Amino acid sequence: MTTDINHALSLREWLTRLQDTGRLSVAKPGLDLRHQVAAVAQALDGRRATLFPEPSEHPVSVISGIVSDRGWMAESLGVAPADLLEHVQRAAAEPLPWNEVQSETAPTHEVVHRDVDILRQLPVPTHNEHDSGAYITAGILVSRDPETGIQNVAIHRCQISGPDRIGILLLPRHTDHYYRKAEKLGRPLEIAIAIGVSPACLLASQAIVPIDHDELEIAGALGGSPLDVVKCLTNDVRVPADSEIVIEGRILPKTRELEGPFGEFPQYYGERGERHVIHVDAITHRRDPLFHTIVGGGYEHLLLGAIPREATILSTLQRSFPGVVDVHLAMGGVGRYHLYVKLRKTQEGEGKNVLLGAFAAHYDIKHAVVVDTDVDIHDPREVEWAVSTRFQADRDLVVIADSQGSKLDPSTRDGLGAKMGLDATIPVDAPEMQFKRIRVPGSEDLDLDAVLAPDARWSDAG
Ligand code: MN
Repeated sequence: MTTDINHALSLREWLTRLQDTGRLSVAKPGLDLRHQVAAVAQALDGRRATLFPEPSEHPVSVISGIVSDRGWMAESLGVAPADLLEHVQRAAAEPLPWNEVQSETAPTHEVVHRDVDILRQLPVPTHNEHDSGAYITAGILVSRDPETGIQNVAIHRCQISGPDRIGILLLPRHTDHYYRKAEKLGRPLEIAIAIGVSPACLLASQAIVPIDHDELEIAGALGGSPLDVVKCLTNDVRVPADSEIVIEGRILPKTRELEGPFGEFPQYYGERGERHVIHVDAITHRRDPLFHTIVGGGYEHLLLGAIPREATILSTLQRSFPGVVDVHLAMGGVGRYHLYVKLRKTQEGEGKNVLLGAFAAHYDIKHAVVVDTDVDIHDPREVEWAVSTRFQADRDLVVIADSQGSKLDPSTRDGLGAKMGLDATIPVDAPEMQFKRIRVPGSEDLDLDAVLAPDARWSDAG
């Protein structure tokens, strides 16, 4: 897809662009927040974004599927799809400090609720059959290091547990690290959950960067200009000033309550367990806010996880293997488990070294395939073609038993599983014609409009 914009779009600008180009569907008013919104969003997954007016008679509209295509993600950032990973790599390496604005000028402070009742104030959908209830799935959770004040941004699943209570899953990553610091000081961790943010903010929240890197600064770099942020009304957290909705609150120390099950990205349920709890102090929003929801396991969910991971894995591999041209985390591998690598191979055996490097680059990678530069790694049929014609299992297969994998992969033993690598590159010294791909001259730049007669009938011919 080509693009004629050269800057990143805000959420509302992006929705307008989707609408103007026939990529946004508006549902009839009043669809049910329980399952029906998710069913429609899922049916249009990867093809159309959807807006749901008055879901379950709630005055606030729900949106879903706004970045459910890789080309859309690139387009919303104003870059060509082929340049997307390089753009993400550069933004992560050169973040832009944010710009703080006053509360009076922040759209997200137009309406303030200090008397919080989450489900009365926000249309929170329930997605899957066995989900424990309504979940916020597309909120970027911003927290502050209690000692340094440096912010972190991440998306966590948030179960609505009561009028001002949210159950949250914290995996042992950055938000959890800040929480432990606060808990040790006997204090809650101040947080804010921003719902309805720009594609740049959504993507930046998933960047794989060290703990002291503020993802909102990466969002600024992705967008090409410093991000406008505003200080929350009840704590010191800074959130994107044009967020549709912001939930301000605190993760309570020494408090755990039941959360889950919830339908996760591998299309299985994350189990029920004792989890952290947020007490909500205030909800602020724009005058006519939009509530963004991401349906678990759909393209929107998988792409937001996959693209920043690809950028990091590519940087890691290129450090050791300059011949690595591109990587792709395939959607069939839930954007995490299947990695395809495009390699300009110069040494025999290099494909296998790249496989070993790939498994070291991220523990989630379970199956990896290395192919030559003539194979389109974004097309699963192309990768399968390379495996079917350039791979022999007795010489080109690497299997590593009992290594660390994803705990959300139900076929592992609590995360312990095997790695499988397939070297589908051709031998360096292969005779030229042995692996030469057939080609019809003139097929690459064929202009069908110039050669077809659209109104002619076959019986008129000859
Ligand atoms: Mn982080």
